[in-house]
Amino acid sequence: MTSQETVDHKYVYDFAEGNRDLKDLLGGKGANLAEMTNLGLPVPPGFTITTEACQAYLATGREPDGLAGQIEAHLESLERGMGRRLGDPHDPLLVSVRSGAKFSMPGMMETVLNVGLNDRSVVGLAARAGGNERFAWDSYRRLIQMFGKTVCEVPGEEFEHALDEAKRARGTTSDLDLDADDLRGLVDAYKKIFLKHTGRDFPQEPREQLDLAIRAVFESWNAERAVLYRRQERIPADLGTAVNVVAMVFGNLGPDSGTGVAFTRDPASGAQGIYGDYLANAQGEDVVAGIRNTVPLQDLERLDKRSYDELLDIMARLEGHYQDLCDIEFTIERGKLWMLQTRVGKRTAAAAFVIAGQLVDEGLIDLDEALHRVNGAQLAQLMFPRFRLDHDFEPVARGVGASPGAASGKVVFTSARAVELAAEGEAVILVRRETNPDDLNGMIAARGILTSRGGKTSHAAVVARGMGKTCVSGADEIDVNVPAKRFTVAGQTVHEGDVVSIDGTTGKVYLGEVPVTPSEVVRYFEGTLDPHEADDALVGAVHRIMTHADAARRLAVRANADTGADAARARRFGAQGIGLCRTEHMFLGDRRELVERLILARTDTERTDALAALLPLQRDDFVEIFREMDGLPVTVRLIDPPLHEFLPPLEQLAVDVAVAQERGEDVAKEEALLAAVRRMHEENPMLGLRGVRLGLVIPGLFAMQVRAIAEAAVRVTREGGSACPEIMVPLVGAVQELETVRAEAEKIIAEVVGDSGVEVLIGTMIEVPRAALTAGQIAEAAQFFSFGTNDLTQMGWGFSRDDVEGAFFWRYLELGIFGISPFESIDRDGVGRLVRIAAEEGRAARPGLKLGVCGEHGGDPESVHFFHSVGLDYVSCSPFRVPVARLEAGRAAVETVGSDSR
Ligand code: PEP
Ligand code: MG
Repeated sequence: MTSQETVDHKYVYDFAEGNRDLKDLLGGKGANLAEMTNLGLPVPPGFTITTEACQAYLATGREPDGLAGQIEAHLESLERGMGRRLGDPHDPLLVSVRSGAKFSMPGMMETVLNVGLNDRSVVGLAARAGGNERFAWDSYRRLIQMFGKTVCEVPGEEFEHALDEAKRARGTTSDLDLDADDLRGLVDAYKKIFLKHTGRDFPQEPREQLDLAIRAVFESWNAERAVLYRRQERIPADLGTAVNVVAMVFGNLGPDSGTGVAFTRDPASGAQGIYGDYLANAQGEDVVAGIRNTVPLQDLERLDKRSYDELLDIMARLEGHYQDLCDIEFTIERGKLWMLQTRVGKRTAAAAFVIAGQLVDEGLIDLDEALHRVNGAQLAQLMFPRFRLDHDFEPVARGVGASPGAASGKVVFTSARAVELAAEGEAVILVRRETNPDDLNGMIAARGILTSRGGKTSHAAVVARGMGKTCVSGADEIDVNVPAKRFTVAGQTVHEGDVVSIDGTTGKVYLGEVPVTPSEVVRYFEGTLDPHEADDALVGAVHRIMTHADAARRLAVRANADTGADAARARRFGAQGIGLCRTEHMFLGDRRELVERLILARTDTERTDALAALLPLQRDDFVEIFREMDGLPVTVRLIDPPLHEFLPPLEQLAVDVAVAQERGEDVAKEEALLAAVRRMHEENPMLGLRGVRLGLVIPGLFAMQVRAIAEAAVRVTREGGSACPEIMVPLVGAVQELETVRAEAEKIIAEVVGDSGVEVLIGTMIEVPRAALTAGQIAEAAQFFSFGTNDLTQMGWGFSRDDVEGAFFWRYLELGIFGISPFESIDRDGVGRLVRIAAEEGRAARPGLKLGVCGEHGGDPESVHFFHSVGLDYVSCSPFRVPVARLEAGRAAVETVGSDSR
């Protein structure tokens, strides 16, 4: 901008000039004050300084050119309207200076009240208040206190001490017992504190007070707590806050004055009615500070019926106007009601669904809008059992909330012990430094999983989410000692058998048992609670909105499931097929020995024998899954991880062999195993011999799997079922890899399916950047693509998916390099671009190419919207995320551009 443009740029809006759609510019509070003003509601006059002015101030460290003049002009007009001048010694206009960002950040930024009071205008204020000197001096001391703390960083405790001192001198504990003289003395004490800390007298010039207060509100955007809050709530760091300068009205002028908050419905349950609190003879901050007890809003009817009726009337108007639950702050000054704030009120997840349903019933919104008003994060919250933290439970550690839910149980440190205790009917929490595929049985047996290492895509996290099991990962204050069967945390030692409770939503870990409540919404999804019979407004509302989401969405939703039980659960939750059946767990447990035989085979015969022994076991696995998914597509991925993951760890094996040799035992087999493990050791296994590369290097491995899939499909079809297998090749980077695997697979399929009518598709994962960039070529050989966004993120960013989140993402988040881990929500600009390119080029080469995603992002709400926009056919996610993905896919389909649902 040139300096002339800067001068002309409009930085200040009178309330009458704004409206509720200008939240970006005027912040939520300013936009809604403007809206209420235009509705003709009693809003004290004022103006809003825009977020752009704040951004300019924060960028340059000074007010933008033109701002001072515009404030002057708006202040003059405010003074004219009120018939008073700011700080006039005889009849002062006082203003409040309040922050107000686009998204509500309650209590995170600053407010200064009573600006315009000084040694002279305090007298004028007393006169205007009918000689109420106490009120005037109390207002003045509040100004010095707030101004000192907020604008000049005077430690707040000093003022508190002085106030306590004044009360002690008067022999009371209540502010209300201080009289005008006490408060005048307090003002003197406050001024001394101010001078001591700032080296200057409290500013007497009203306009200087105003300018400094505005500047302090700008700066409070970057206060530490505001920065932390934004990060938590994923609010962009560059929005800035608007500043509202509003004529003061007083709720502390006597018993006919007061202040309160109100909700047009219950924000906790969504129930209809009037909810709120009122405090007579008080200012807003007294309510927040909890200095005195409020009374229920209904009591206002008795205290001031006229104001109460007017308030109810305004609340009804606001609800009709905003077509939503509103929350309101108001003040009554000597029997006159003033609206200080309104906004579409925050609510619990349950209330969000209930209210959306009610508003449809009331004809205020349609079902599309109801769907827009709720979101997947809320639904996910409603699906997990929750801790009832009504008692004093303090967490002892905090890790990553890796898989939501609440679980309590006895601590165990090994998979075997977890299985043992669970078989005895005990609830257990499996505690490990990190988990690996060997822990699977223990994870299945446990109520929850707690690890001291790893982030949201660590093995523990991914597997736990897949099972819908509570998991806290990366709780690094916990020091796990598996051999000693104990962990230490915060100076305490927890032994096997001691009880802990973990909250997979917040990542908090508690010692002892915290009571839990189960989710009704899950019972509804599982079909054990009929929405029409349930005496529960929530379940009815969820049912109605989900039904609409399913009708509206274009994206199909599949599940990632590897067992018949998971497949069955996924289907109950509404999955329309399996998008990823990982076959590797089928090589664990009692099949490990066969896998070792395969890996150690020295001759073709040994290898063929091992594969032949695995074949029927694999076939049975697939039969079970195809039966459960009768009629729906099942994408089976050929084996992906490096084979040495199926062998014992190198160090362990080396020690075992050395010990056995020392004892003179026969260790030929172990030595062969050790040699194989050494041979197969890789520095970067994630970039090594895995995925399609295994199929190309180990003869017969993929062929065995393909045969097992085809034979299982034929068997299920012959039984009268309908199997729709889709064979998926992992980690392809070049079309030639896929072509080679496909040629072999097609021969086997043709031979097995014969005239059974079974159709088997062959496609590939797109999870290597090169595959995305050569998707046009790859599509020639693929009947479908499924985006493996976990590996695509890993290789796109060069971030090891098992290490980086716990190691250094905090710093990246702090620096704003990204607002959320790209493993959690798709990085639209980079990894997302690879997806888009591959989708476009794939479909250009093969029109109608079926496209899906099966990385963790398939169940992430934000990412689902992205995949909808790219035009994928389906998303696939863990069974427990299926309802969330269904809801978000519906929202993506009905949502209008530019709307926000925060
Ligand atoms: C992926 O990489 O996104 C994927 C689904 O495969 P995996 O997580 O098994 O590597
Ligand atoms: Mg992968």
